[in-house]
Amino acid sequence: MSDVIVENQVIKAVIQVLRQAETELPGDVLSALKSVRDRESNPIARTQLSAIIKNADFAKENVIPMCQDTGVPVFFVDVGREAMINFDLEEAIRKGVARATEEIPLRPNAVHPLTRENSGNVGVGFPDVNFDFVPGKNIKITVMPKGGGAENMSVLRMFTPSEVDDVKHFIIETVKNAGGKPCPPIIVGVGIGGTFDKSARLAKKAALRRLDVPSDDLEQELLEEINSLGIGPMGLGGDTTALKVNIEYAHCHVASLPVAINIQCWAARRASVTLEG
Ligand code: SF4
Repeated sequence: MSDVIVENQVIKAVIQVLRQAETELPGDVLSALKSVRDRESNPIARTQLSAIIKNADFAKENVIPMCQDTGVPVFFVDVGREAMINFDLEEAIRKGVARATEEIPLRPNAVHPLTRENSGNVGVGFPDVNFDFVPGKNIKITVMPKGGGAENMSVLRMFTPSEVDDVKHFIIETVKNAGGKPCPPIIVGVGIGGTFDKSARLAKKAALRRLDVPSDDLEQELLEEINSLGIGPMGLGGDTTALKVNIEYAHCHVASLPVAINIQCWAARRASVTLEG
């Protein structure tokens, strides 16, 4: 069998990961939701969490999207340095998204930023595709459909190095100001350091991290403070505002301290597929 990966494999893989991400909440997210539901002391919050879990089960059983906002498809593609491809990988992903939009179906979410003219689910820079080069000859495609309600509550601020002690307060205040708008319980992805744009990318990767990866002390401290705000599931009050705080770091310029916060809603959709070269 040939080691060459062909365009049609990528198109089919994109449809497959999008279908899985949109219809099946990842196991670690579902477990986290069940665990907070069982611990929740507020009866309204417990009802909200039960409704979220029931909705996720129904979506999986019937293979339909778990939320009407099927999001912006954000792709992270690990390309093996020895992978053999002779086509435009990004274009193949766009073709896969266009087909998935019809077949799953997905809500056509792409519009021109100023005219608001809708172009389906593809457009200039849409979907968002990020490439990393890794050892080997495989291609791993991960998709994270990102809902507008949660994305809109994301914030980036350029601190000066002398303001380092304000970073924790900034993270808590961002979640507090977001309130119920990002459909809690949320995952708080934080990117600290890098450049302006790098910190935002780190924050998104932090929001993508599995929830069963243990937290460090700072992540745990922030999670406890956020949950003491009492915003609760869907903003109706309760013990559970966030499921997790994940922080990614990068070294930054001596005069800079970028901090980005990317908020993910309860519909923390993600799925991956590996094409073997
Ligand atoms: S923020 Fe998430 S759960 Fe809320 S409407 Fe958007 S995609 Fe759906």
